[in-house]
Amino acid sequence: MRLIVGLVITVAALAIALNRALFIMKLVRSGAKAPNRSSTIASRISTELTEVLGQRKLLAKTIPGIAHFFTFWGFTILIATIIEAYGALFQSNFAIPLIGHDSWLGFIEDFFSVAVLVSLVVFSIIRVINAPKKKAKASRFYGSHNSAAWLVLAGIALVVITLLVYRAAQVNTGDFPYSNFAFASHLIANALAPLGHSANSAIETIFLLGNIAIIMGFLVFVTYSKHLHIFVAPINIAFSRRPKALGALDKTPNMDPEELSEDSVFGVGKIEDFSWKQLLDLVTCTECGRCQEQCPAWNTQKPLSPKLLIMDLREHLFESSQRLLTTTKDSGTTQVLQEPKMLVPSVIDPDVLWSCTTCGACVEACPVDIEHIDAIVDMRRYQVLMESDFPSEAQGMLRNIENQGDPWGLGSSHRGDWVSELDFEVPIITNEIPEDIEYLFWVGCAGALDERARKVTQSIARLLHRSGVTFAILAKKESCTGDPARRLGNEYLYQSQAMTNIETLNSAKAKKDHSLLPSLL
Ligand code: SF4
Ligand code: SF4
Repeated sequence: MRLIVGLVITVAALAIALNRALFIMKLVRSGAKAPNRSSTIASRISTELTEVLGQRKLLAKTIPGIAHFFTFWGFTILIATIIEAYGALFQSNFAIPLIGHDSWLGFIEDFFSVAVLVSLVVFSIIRVINAPKKKAKASRFYGSHNSAAWLVLAGIALVVITLLVYRAAQVNTGDFPYSNFAFASHLIANALAPLGHSANSAIETIFLLGNIAIIMGFLVFVTYSKHLHIFVAPINIAFSRRPKALGALDKTPNMDPEELSEDSVFGVGKIEDFSWKQLLDLVTCTECGRCQEQCPAWNTQKPLSPKLLIMDLREHLFESSQRLLTTTKDSGTTQVLQEPKMLVPSVIDPDVLWSCTTCGACVEACPVDIEHIDAIVDMRRYQVLMESDFPSEAQGMLRNIENQGDPWGLGSSHRGDWVSELDFEVPIITNEIPEDIEYLFWVGCAGALDERARKVTQSIARLLHRSGVTFAILAKKESCTGDPARRLGNEYLYQSQAMTNIETLNSAKAKKDHSLLPSLL
């Protein structure tokens, strides 16, 4: 009887979960192409080892990190107990090679069962201390689906409790394969022993079926909740940008005029303009709030939370699923079933979009390597390049870069002024860098033109000079790298600045560059 009940529950749950998994897979695959996501295999394998198996980013927060480490490994190791549970449906003294024989496995299973229960207590305490009701926006859980999170904690607890109780009953019925190294099972067995053999036999059946039912229910729940990350996080991490999730932005489709067509879309205006990797990011979010907690915009009362931005986009993705997945062929043309919404302003408020400083703290903090900045900059690119709709404060700055080569419009003629206050001569490159000069010193707009930043530039020049390093500058031949334009979404201006600067550097024939600007690299 217990075999039939167990198998019916399993088949029904697997059918629902598989159906949902296929739906999510199709939804993610409906995204646009994502470049550079499968190269550098060695780096991807090492990231899986450190970030997934080693839980590196989660351990940045020690206490929740350790609790998550034990929960992750507990779930991995408890796969053996799932095999044992299904085996017990068929045969009371079930055993296969490795499972059902050695005391060490019984000990490890019990150890991780207890470790998971302790971790759940830790998670609960963290959630109570940081409850949004108490801390409002200062809580990293503000805006997350907190009831679902409590449900998941309760579900995991029930999985472990039913497991330990049916194992304890097995000890008393003589069906348990492990010695008293399985300390927790034997401890509970002592408490159940006075109930007698037949009661323990009934307890074994009820809790064994309960264990299977809860695992299967949990599996279904996971595929419909943020806990989907259990399955998709390792995949998202495998396809994250290498060598780090926080790295150079991808280009919006090549802006070479010869490659453009009437259908070219710059950036992301609708949900389907996101790449499949960006859609995978959306379904992977665990709502942990680590990004929100680090975001300078959120911490200075701006409307932007990287977590809420990802959650809003995810909700819109699921709302749009019918349109993305269902098309009807009508007289050879594809007819869409729902009107697409423009992401800005329908899903993401413009104030949210323009509050981002592109500092990267969110990407750095995210334990599942979600690339928030790519999504934000892609939506900005659409606003700037397709809609010409961006904050008025940015207009002057972009015009200055385009016309004067710096964000303030001070002009290139002042770029070499800072050298006049030095007590040694700094050569200025007019054509090619002289043979006897080792470095080209790229100063940057602020370093050359901003009063305070100039002092930094002068100090660095003095250090180089005193160290005997020979260097020269480009002065008025230098121009803005275009980095501020790129962060604002004006990829066209960025690319044209980048091309101009590449030509300048090539014509100077510099072999070694020194710069204050990471963006130059
Ligand atoms: S990159 Fe933007 S969203 Fe991310 S932490 Fe910085 S300001 Fe916040
Ligand atoms: S984006 Fe990453 S850090 Fe932010 S809530 Fe989601 S999983 Fe956590």
